Amino acid sequence: MPKLPILTLKDLLATIKKNNPECDCDLITLAYEFGEKAHAGQMRMSGEPYFQHCVWTAHRLAELKLDTATIAAGLLHDVVEDCAVSPATLRKEFGDEICELVAGVTKLGKLKYRGIERYVENLRKMTVAMAEEIRVIFIKFCDRVHNLKTLDAHPEPTKRKRIAQESIEIYAVIANRLGMGELKGELEDLAFPFVNPQGFAKTKALFEAKVKVKKPYIDRFIKLLEPTLKETVKGSYKIHGRLKHLYTLWQKLQKPEVDWNIDRVYDLIAVRVIVPDIADCYGVLGAIHQTYPPMPGRIKDYIATPKANGYQSLHTTVLTPDDQIIEIQIRTFQMHEDAEHGAAAHWTYKETPNEVREKDTFVLKNSQRLDWIQHMLRWQQRAQENPEAFLTKIKTDFFADRIFVLTPRGDVIDLPREATPVDFAYAIHTDLGHSCTGAMVNDSIMPLDSVLSSGDIVKIIVDKKRKKPSSDWLEFVKTNTARDHIRSVLKLHAPVRAVRPRANGQTNSRRQKRS
Ligand code: MN
Repeated sequence: MPKLPILTLKDLLATIKKNNPECDCDLITLAYEFGEKAHAGQMRMSGEPYFQHCVWTAHRLAELKLDTATIAAGLLHDVVEDCAVSPATLRKEFGDEICELVAGVTKLGKLKYRGIERYVENLRKMTVAMAEEIRVIFIKFCDRVHNLKTLDAHPEPTKRKRIAQESIEIYAVIANRLGMGELKGELEDLAFPFVNPQGFAKTKALFEAKVKVKKPYIDRFIKLLEPTLKETVKGSYKIHGRLKHLYTLWQKLQKPEVDWNIDRVYDLIAVRVIVPDIADCYGVLGAIHQTYPPMPGRIKDYIATPKANGYQSLHTTVLTPDDQIIEIQIRTFQMHEDAEHGAAAHWTYKETPNEVREKDTFVLKNSQRLDWIQHMLRWQQRAQENPEAFLTKIKTDFFADRIFVLTPRGDVIDLPREATPVDFAYAIHTDLGHSCTGAMVNDSIMPLDSVLSSGDIVKIIVDKKRKKPSSDWLEFVKTNTARDHIRSVLKLHAPVRAVRPRANGQTNSRRQKRS
């Protein structure tokens, strides 16, 4: 892999100004200087200064047109994990919002890879739990892109392959489900050579041979289309060729109907037409079909029927005067932005000046949150037979009532809101519940009745000799599992102390006073 150029603060600011003129460049500069100092002396395995990794991450976030806090958090995403910077310091220097984003990235990093199925399930839960902080996922994606770009410097072949595989099977899958087509393609193509070197080499050779031959035809066809477009489209439009990503090409080549015959892949190079509105899309499609005969069965109206991840465009495949078969994709500028950036394109709000910054300002607006839930819904549609039930579940269960807490090994435990370490212990194992005497929550010792929140990493402290729960726990546990186990054991070992009956969900006055 070619060595990446060194990115400077100036480069970063230039990209930011181009993509988000409202971005607070002073804050970015502060974050840059803070991060550079914190990582001083640390090196990447590739031999470059560690901080370059953070600058590249932030740079990719800027390309996604993300906001000040996300880019700053990109610059700072490793300072808690890899430097001696405490979350408290970060909060003092950069405020709650950036600190929370960095904490989110750090927590995601704690998920351990132990078998793909379990990991996917864990990540899925975490993603849902963090739906309102989708920006954490964006940072993680960009972090991963740079890690893949420098992956050949990693000394361990098995780890290289594992990281690459995880990128294709998890990160790219999530990016795709979030409609982030550009990033999905990038993650897959960067990981491809590490996962399957032979397949990559074979695909690349085929592709390059074919693209060289096809290029002149495509250029000629684009010129031929220009007059038709000028006539049909009232406003401004764009037309360009797009090359197929290598990983998706490899997937297609393996299909039985293609069987490594690259001439059967019709969208190797596609012509993309981007127009102002939907009427233009259909207008252009009609005008093209009048001149160039469409191939039967290859006209797809993803505008009327979007793909599961929200993708919208018209696709058709036509025969050119040069007897070439070419796919044309027609979409509006908005659809194009959505197809490239997906959920990130929905992350738009007015940046507010420092003095009026409040946490709530940065929570997605209602309509945007609905968009996001729509995204989540589309994501689940393929896997879930009953999407309506899932939407209801998201609303009532995931968002309103559930939290996701991590074990020290990186497994996600799903608990009701306000659950305590005792609930957590019983959710893992009855014996762990019975013998727990304390809990470490995010590395601090916390009382057994403390309230856990999503993303907390909880370690239960046990006393092996102890096999019996305390009747006091009944006053604060939130899950039926914990309550039932405690009751059944107490009946066996000791007379049950009178427990004040209370309705489910009623808050406990004693604990409220304490917290
Ligand atoms: Mn990182």
